[in-house]
Amino acid sequence: MTLHLVSNKPSVIGVLDLQGGVHEHLEHLERLGVAYKKVKQPSDFADLAGLIIPGGESSCLFRLLNIFEIKEVLLQAHRRGMKIWGTCAGAILLAREVVGESSCLNLIDIVIERNGFGSQLDSFVSEALIPAISAKPIPLTFIRAPKIISVGKEINVLLKIDDYIAAAESENILVTVFHPELTGCLALHRHFALKCGLNPAADSHDYIDPLWKSSSWTRQSRIA
Ligand code: GLN
Repeated sequence: MTLHLVSNKPSVIGVLDLQGGVHEHLEHLERLGVAYKKVKQPSDFADLAGLIIPGGESSCLFRLLNIFEIKEVLLQAHRRGMKIWGTCAGAILLAREVVGESSCLNLIDIVIERNGFGSQLDSFVSEALIPAISAKPIPLTFIRAPKIISVGKEINVLLKIDDYIAAAESENILVTVFHPELTGCLALHRHFALKCGLNPAADSHDYIDPLWKSSSWTRQSRIA
């Protein structure tokens, strides 16, 4: 007789599907070879090892979290161990303090300033070495990005540039003010998958999609 052991360990990374750059994250998770899904309803949270809150417009996401009545279920899932990564607007939602505005989820001890670089026209790309994430420089895309102004003692700063922090993490939360899903680089997604206790594809370390073009994220997505 064969004994099948069924594990109930959460094994999926969800992408919050309310507004913003959802498909681009889903496509990176597919490249990474981990299980993924869109998350929109309270029942979607049941099997999540991790949740990505994408970039978009934080004030809009803030309102939609309440309209879809998923703020409380998200906080409950986090309390039972679900890791969360916020990119850009997602990082704003996770912050303890948003300069001059109300905070939303208050799950990581950072102070963040919305639109810290100026308007949409002040968006830019660059690259940086983040030793904790990859041995190769990581391409960075900043779109009307916030600046992390300061972090609490328990927070690990992953990348500091000039007068701001661009990436930081606690044991359970990762925040980046830039958009790794809008580059061909999987390093941050791999880092998050490992943080969630999942096994990303072995060759994803230092992997940069050779077919990636800067226009790749403007195409129609294949993922329904
Ligand atoms: N400026 C946006 C906000 O404040 C964030 C932009 C982004 O996510 N790329 O919500």
